[in-house]
Amino acid sequence: MRSRIGVLCSGGDSPGMNAAIRAVVRTALYLGYEPVGIYRGYEGLIDGEMETLHANSVSGIIQRGGTILRAGRSPRFLSPDGRQQAYQQLQRWNIQKLIVIGGDGTFRGAQDFINEYPDIQVLGLPGTIDNDLNGTDWTIGFDTAVNIALDAIDRLRDTAAAMGRLFLVEVMGRDAGFIALHTAVAGGAEAVLVPETPTDFDSIVRVLERGWQRQKTSAIIVVAEGDEAGGAILAAEQLRQRFPHYEIRATVLGHIQRGGSPTAHDRILASKLGVVAVERLHEGATGAMVGIHCDETILTPFSKAVKSHSPLNPLLLRIVEMLSL
Ligand code: ADP
Repeated sequence: MRSRIGVLCSGGDSPGMNAAIRAVVRTALYLGYEPVGIYRGYEGLIDGEMETLHANSVSGIIQRGGTILRAGRSPRFLSPDGRQQAYQQLQRWNIQKLIVIGGDGTFRGAQDFINEYPDIQVLGLPGTIDNDLNGTDWTIGFDTAVNIALDAIDRLRDTAAAMGRLFLVEVMGRDAGFIALHTAVAGGAEAVLVPETPTDFDSIVRVLERGWQRQKTSAIIVVAEGDEAGGAILAAEQLRQRFPHYEIRATVLGHIQRGGSPTAHDRILASKLGVVAVERLHEGATGAMVGIHCDETILTPFSKAVKSHSPLNPLLLRIVEMLSL
């Protein structure tokens, strides 16, 4: 009987997870393994909700958002009892190698699991739109989320310019401003509000007044949901108090940013990481996330692949400020 490699998606879904599943399944087959898809993350692992996958099982999914395996949270996996049931299912299914696609909660769970059951080898892939994990320059789904937000901003810019309005656009990012900053630079926003820097309404007012003096017809401010202003709706309130006669609108993009077809960047990233994860499992690696740094794939132990609170790229912050003249 061929050795088996299990694959699951855990936590929130992100665009490109399907491309990663495809890469894992096809590489596993290429190397002579039998791939097994595990549904609903650690919940499905505990319940034994899994099936063997074939090359055809992952046909036509590289361009699809979401995940064919479904994702999800699993309160039961937080307890040793839940993890023991998960282990028993892996035994029953004769799976010794596992790939988990998710964020830092997923990796924390995987680390707890291999502390208790070191005979199971586990590697992780960074599947989150937030791009805030240590050990990788890019997470699977970030580029797509930025492009979706950018598309929305381009559309809002048209109506903002036609109507002479100021739009505040809230993008995802509870703890990190990566999506907001990249979207602001690419969308030519007048300002960006992110959790990493203090929000100074006086300087935003100066930028807006400067624009109006030269008859600028529209203004866009990108707001990360975790900014201390409390999101786009509350930030709009603050600005309305300063400009009661100006038309100010707030738009919250929300989960729209997590759906849709992944960009070429995310598909390529997911394919690279998926292939390398199976190759490294095959070589015996365990307990680490496979990420990308300066276009090289690297392994970072789960204990270090946690949410990164690294500073935002100062050049990108300067670009927003300097180019919003
Ligand atoms: P993400 O992986 O996107 O950060 P979560 O934080 O929701 O998403 O984590 C996904 C799942 O990982 C949780 O529902 C839980 O089953 C498992 N998990 C998270 N943290 C731990 C932990 N400290 N110990 C064990 N399992 C955990």
